Amino acid sequence: MPPAFSFDPAEAPGEIFGANVFTKAEMQARLPKAIFKSVVATIEKGAKLDPAVADAVAAAMKDWALEKGATHYAHVFYPMTGLTAEKHDSFLEPVSDGQALAEFAGKTLIQGEPDASSFPSGGLRSTFEARGYTGWDVTSPAYILENPNGNTLCVPTVFVSMTGEALDYKTPLLRSQQAMGVHAERILTLFGHKNIDRIVSFCGPEQEYFLVDRHFFLARPDLINAGRTLFGAKPPKGQEFDDHYFGAVPERVLGFMMDTERELFKLGIPAKTRHNEVAPGQFEVAPMFERANIASDHQQLLMTVFKTVAKKHGMECLFHEKPFAGVNGSGKHVNFSVGNSELGSLLVPGDTPHENAQFLVFCAAVIRAVHKFAGLLRVSVASATNDHRLGANEAPPAIISIFLGDQLADVFDQIAKGSATSSKGKGSMIIGVDTLPVLPTDPGDRNRTSPFAFTGNRFEFRAPGSGQTVAVPMIVLNTIMADSFDYLATTLESAVAAGEPFDKAVQTLLTDIITEHGAVVFNGDGYSENWQIEAASRGLPNLKTTLDAIPELIKPEAVEVFEKYGVFTERELHSRYEVRLEQYALTIAVEAKLALEIGSTVVLPAAIRYQTELAQNVIVLKSAGLKPDSSLLQSVSGTIAELSTALATLKAALSDHSADSAYDEAKHAQVALLPAMEAVRVAADALETTIADDLWPLPTYQEMLFIL
Ligand code: ADP
Ligand code: MG
Repeated sequence: MPPAFSFDPAEAPGEIFGANVFTKAEMQARLPKAIFKSVVATIEKGAKLDPAVADAVAAAMKDWALEKGATHYAHVFYPMTGLTAEKHDSFLEPVSDGQALAEFAGKTLIQGEPDASSFPSGGLRSTFEARGYTGWDVTSPAYILENPNGNTLCVPTVFVSMTGEALDYKTPLLRSQQAMGVHAERILTLFGHKNIDRIVSFCGPEQEYFLVDRHFFLARPDLINAGRTLFGAKPPKGQEFDDHYFGAVPERVLGFMMDTERELFKLGIPAKTRHNEVAPGQFEVAPMFERANIASDHQQLLMTVFKTVAKKHGMECLFHEKPFAGVNGSGKHVNFSVGNSELGSLLVPGDTPHENAQFLVFCAAVIRAVHKFAGLLRVSVASATNDHRLGANEAPPAIISIFLGDQLADVFDQIAKGSATSSKGKGSMIIGVDTLPVLPTDPGDRNRTSPFAFTGNRFEFRAPGSGQTVAVPMIVLNTIMADSFDYLATTLESAVAAGEPFDKAVQTLLTDIITEHGAVVFNGDGYSENWQIEAASRGLPNLKTTLDAIPELIKPEAVEVFEKYGVFTERELHSRYEVRLEQYALTIAVEAKLALEIGSTVVLPAAIRYQTELAQNVIVLKSAGLKPDSSLLQSVSGTIAELSTALATLKAALSDHSADSAYDEAKHAQVALLPAMEAVRVAADALETTIADDLWPLPTYQEMLFIL
């Protein structure tokens, strides 16, 4: 199959970068000066959007889009399912004399009414008020999505109910970003900064994914419908040799990567690194970090682009966290920092003790937030699909702890004892006015077993799953950081108001925080058994499964912090709680139905065919006067009996039960469906390794993982 996008080696990446984005430069060229200034103020400083501006922007956007071959426009929104949704409309509007005019007014840009009443709302909408509205997110640039059948102007939007409640994850992400910025700026003010540009959070997501040949994919109903294999014996050769990790990228995959990069560049998504990952068939792409809300939109778009381009190359791109049992799963590490373009990342150690004091205050804020709200971070990555990965010994444990690296951990140890005067390993000792050391910019060793690691200029949250939106972890990070910044700023402000010297106030605050929250810092091996025990003795929560984590969302502490910073109302939180439970139950129910169907109609018939062949063989040998060995027949028959029993149990678990609440329904999925599916799989996988290869109807792990 010829790839649809042809690669032109003469084409410079710089020329195509952002070619399909309605960029600031594009706006500047097309808008009157005053209007352009007003839009930029909204984008950059968070100023309120002047409605009068919308018409002018809409007109310019429409002209640009038509020049780019767009026939339709779409409000793109992100419902609570974590997916991307679009409502397309034609630019053309009929006029009286049978003609049509290209129309796109300001009000169409600002607001849409996709109805979309079938998206889960977790009780936020009853049918009489089922409508949802989309609203233009000025901060996220509009873009053109190309399609062989015509291009579409896509406008990133928020999705809210008639009563103004958020039905999506973009709205709370924007709210949380704003709250975090305000309180970070208070701390910076204390450190003497003036006229600070809006502080925002940055997010650099590292996306892992699998590629499989599409022929195999299409022959696996489980991959098609559940995104993961519900059956499949381990291949004789797995990932033990590590020969794939960072190895040469296969040619077809390289072609795919080049095409995805080209498409991402056109959409203004700065894809940077690409390489093979640990498992065979597994790869990674890491776009450069951007403002969290843009990174989040781009991340969703990236997944769409990857899926589309993979198909053109005869492959399927899998974003499931665990498509293949027994093989490494996929994560989406969220690299997180706060700052702005002028000050850079506030999580970078500086050159002077004063700068370092500021850095340590921001680090301490992170330590406090992660310790105090570990449960919220855990729930931000909890899903039926990520459960297959988290806590297994190739992904971070379900216990949320922070890795600081030896040098920074040592500094905080000294702070806990009252002061910090040396920086480990550097041999130098700076005793400044504020007795804080010069810190190394070198992050030290990387610890891959930590769910939350300091990596030199940012923290890397490693628990998010490959298939999830980064919006949810970013909302939690922003909110809990807002809480910490607020607390630290308030403490310092009152100390200073009470006449305490600033340096001394900082010193006391750092000591207090590390004493109270230092338990969350752990530099050891997160995969070890001992850590489970030690974490328990430190009082750190170990929320092993999604159902252990989801109730964290509606605990009083959660409601309090989300309401206080205006991120979620209690009703909005409850709706997320309900939707998360529904999604969990639904995901497992779909898998269970698939396992039943594939087990009964694909695996069992194949096994029975083989059983019949063996039985016939016994009869033929007997009639020829030979003494047949019927042990294989007996063993196969035994496994078939196990499979039949397991299928019957699964069928029963799917039909007879009643649940009073979304939680009960989810619990049933966890305690009844998951084990019943597992029993079916054990029997089916045993049959796969026993019966004749030519009778086995499903593509094997060997084929799916190694043929690319
Ligand atoms: P590694 O494999 O060492 O973790 P990668 O280059 O694969 O590094 O990915 C690192 C990610 O972190 C990239 O998305 C990068 O843009 C992002 N990143 C770098 N600096 C920051 C920062 N200050 N804030 C947020 N993300 C950052
Ligand atoms: Mg990486």
